[in-house]
Amino acid sequence: MNDVECSRAGCRASARWRVIWRNPRIHSADRRKVWTACDEHVAYLREFLAARDFPVLVEPATAETADAEPSS
Ligand SMILES: [Zn+2]
Repeated sequence: MNDVECSRAGCRASARWRVIWRNPRIHSADRRKVWTACDEHVAYLREFLAARDFPVLVEPATAETADAEPSS
């Protein structure tokens, strides 16, 4: 197991979601910030960003994400 922890402060739960966002005021259009979230905090983190009018996308933190290491 190679668990990634939730990005929520103080949370040690393993992350099951990726919260992908950027701040349009400081990040260029091709920048992406990624938070990781457990089931309990994914909605909190998404709302936190949405409340600031940041573009936010939530996707499952599956093993086969685009930037995963290729396995040979
Ligand atoms: Zn959490």
